[in-house]
Amino acid sequence: MFNIIQKTIKTGIVTARYPDEAAKISENFRGRPAFDFEKWKDARPAAEVCPTGAISLRDKSDSRRVTVDYGLCVFCGLCADASSDQAVQITREFELATMDRHKLVLTAEYALNADGTHQQLREVQFQSGHTDTDVETLGRKARENIHKLLRRSLAIREVDAGSCNGCELEIVALNNPIHDIERFGIQFVASPRHADMLLVTGPVSRNMELALLKTYRAMADPKVVVAVGACGISGGIFGANYASLGGVDKVLPVDVYVPGCPPRPQALLHGILLAVGCLAQRLDSDTAVNQKA
Ligand code: SF4
Repeated sequence: MFNIIQKTIKTGIVTARYPDEAAKISENFRGRPAFDFEKWKDARPAAEVCPTGAISLRDKSDSRRVTVDYGLCVFCGLCADASSDQAVQITREFELATMDRHKLVLTAEYALNADGTHQQLREVQFQSGHTDTDVETLGRKARENIHKLLRRSLAIREVDAGSCNGCELEIVALNNPIHDIERFGIQFVASPRHADMLLVTGPVSRNMELALLKTYRAMADPKVVVAVGACGISGGIFGANYASLGGVDKVLPVDVYVPGCPPRPQALLHGILLAVGCLAQRLDSDTAVNQKA
C-alpha cells in the first residue's frame, strides 16, 4: 500500500488539460487533409486512390467539379501521396466536429485543359477547416451548463451500430486518467433511460437499426445524438449497401458529427462538448416554454 501511494505521488497528475490547453499530438498523427485548390493541377490521381470516395469528380466537356467530403474521409493520407504537386497535405488538425453536415464538404470548380489537368480555378466553396466555436470556450461553457441546467452529471449512452470497434477503443480512452471525461461531470451509463446523450458508432448495420431506434426512443427528452467517425457520419468505408444503412442520420436526427477514423479522444471530447451546448439550448427553450404555459 505504501509503495502504491509513493508511486502515485511520484507520478503526479497525468490528466491532460485539453481543452483548456492545446492537445499534445504526436508528430506522426494523421489529421484532416488540407487542399490547396489554387495549386492543385490534377485531382484525378487523388480521387482514384481515395478508398471511401471522399474525393469525387464531376467532369463536363471543359470543366470539373471537385468535391471533398470530410464526413467520408478516413484520414489515410493516400491523396497526399498521390498528388505530386503537393497541393494536398496531411495536417494534424482533428477538431472538426460540427452541428452542420454541410460544413464538412468542400467544392471547387476548375476550367480544364485538353489533357484533363486543371487550367484555372473558377470557384471554391467551403465552410470547413474551422470549428463551430473555439474549444476552450466549449469546455468552460460545458462545465457551466452541466452544473447550472442539469444540477447533476450528464449521462451518455453509447451504441455500437456495427463499428469495427476502433471508435470504441478511443471512447474507452475518454475514461482513462489521461482524458478523464468525468472532470466535466460527464459519465457513461448502461441504460438509455438515464441518458441525456446518445453516442453512436458504426455505419448502422441493418441488424442494429431497430436496437438503435429503441435505444433512442427509451431516452427522455430533451436528448442529443452524436454520430461518431466516418462510419457514423456517412457509412465510411462501408457506405450504404445490403447490410449497412450508411450513417446514423439515415435513422435518427443527428445533432453533432465527429469526423475521423477513428476520431482521437480529444476529437470525441470536442464533439461531446459541442453536443452539451445543443442540449443546453434545448433545456433552455423547454424551460422558457414551461414558464409561458
Ligand atoms: S485522406 Fe481522406 S480524402 Fe485523402 S485519400 Fe484518404 S480518405 Fe480520401
